[in-house]
Amino acid sequence: MQQTGNINPPGISDVEYLPFHQLLSIVDNKIAGVIARGFPIALYKKKWLSSGIKQNSNFKLSDLKRFPFLTQSDLIDNSRDSSPKKYAGRHIQFWNSADIESPAPCWLPRGKDDVADYMRYALRIAHVLELREDDRILVLSQAASGATNMLPYALAHVLKAEQVRSQIITMDMGILRHTKKWVEFLNRNRPKVMIAQGKDALELTQMLIGGNSDQSPSASSPPDGSLKPMPDLRLILLYGPDAAIQQTSVYSTYQADTHLSLGLVDLNLFGMECSARQGIHLWLDTGIYEIIPQNEIAKEQTQQGYVPGSNWLWETEAGIQGELVITNFSEILPLIRYRTGYLVEALGHETCRCGRTHPRVRLL
Ligand SMILES: [Zn+2]
Repeated sequence: MQQTGNINPPGISDVEYLPFHQLLSIVDNKIAGVIARGFPIALYKKKWLSSGIKQNSNFKLSDLKRFPFLTQSDLIDNSRDSSPKKYAGRHIQFWNSADIESPAPCWLPRGKDDVADYMRYALRIAHVLELREDDRILVLSQAASGATNMLPYALAHVLKAEQVRSQIITMDMGILRHTKKWVEFLNRNRPKVMIAQGKDALELTQMLIGGNSDQSPSASSPPDGSLKPMPDLRLILLYGPDAAIQQTSVYSTYQADTHLSLGLVDLNLFGMECSARQGIHLWLDTGIYEIIPQNEIAKEQTQQGYVPGSNWLWETEAGIQGELVITNFSEILPLIRYRTGYLVEALGHETCRCGRTHPRVRLL
């Protein structure tokens, strides 16, 4: 525990502030290994060979754009048609899926190194959120097998390892809807930090206010006379597809600082706002980010067979909007040039006011 009372483990914070060229060299050093892990996987093998890409061990970042894009349909089709070994290689330790509520969820297996990475990312989240001693953290978790479901347990693990005495309360909206006792529990145990999807945070407001009687000791009146649903709450980390749209409502409802996160957890990546709130930092040491500009997407939609071009996020001018493409460094099933479907706006190359060097986007 540091003297500031905030979590600030050495090493974790260093990479946030590395000079940009050092961040790029981390990425460049990883790319050959990532592609080597992709070659034996059925998902990539055929596609890459038919694009004229031959295996070698010297791939650099500049080679990445020669590789074809990967789509969610590719993942769904391959997970249905392949054995686990062919789909993702060996030594799978953990399966999680994206779009768990859709009829065809997309399975994303992880190896032991990926699980270890998740723990490190959880620690980094704790650091960026500047979690403090004695924080009580409510995580509105999602149903398994989304990887967000792991977050409260990972946080509990890493905070204990850092000897930070915090409490984690993990709760599912389905439970809250059906068991009023848990709403009373939250009203008694006043969380100071909340991690939630925007829609869940807003739904929870109604439950908390509805669960409070006028005499409730937990209900406090701010100067404008409205009721604060969580009187002790100082910080909310919002994630999910509509986080940016719901941020203003959540902020005004809870009257607590609200940071956005990009819902990349299932893709083994994280991105979140810092206290400067100048867009979401995408952690460049954990993945590679490209943007397909809107004009390229428009050409793709009107010209059959057109393959859109992309820009490295860190070279994209501020204000350019488009689809986010990611490459992660997963051990078992690296996602290489995966089209996320997320529309974002690049925020330029300047170092953030917080001092972090990782590129930033705004969610659209
Ligand atoms: Zn920042």
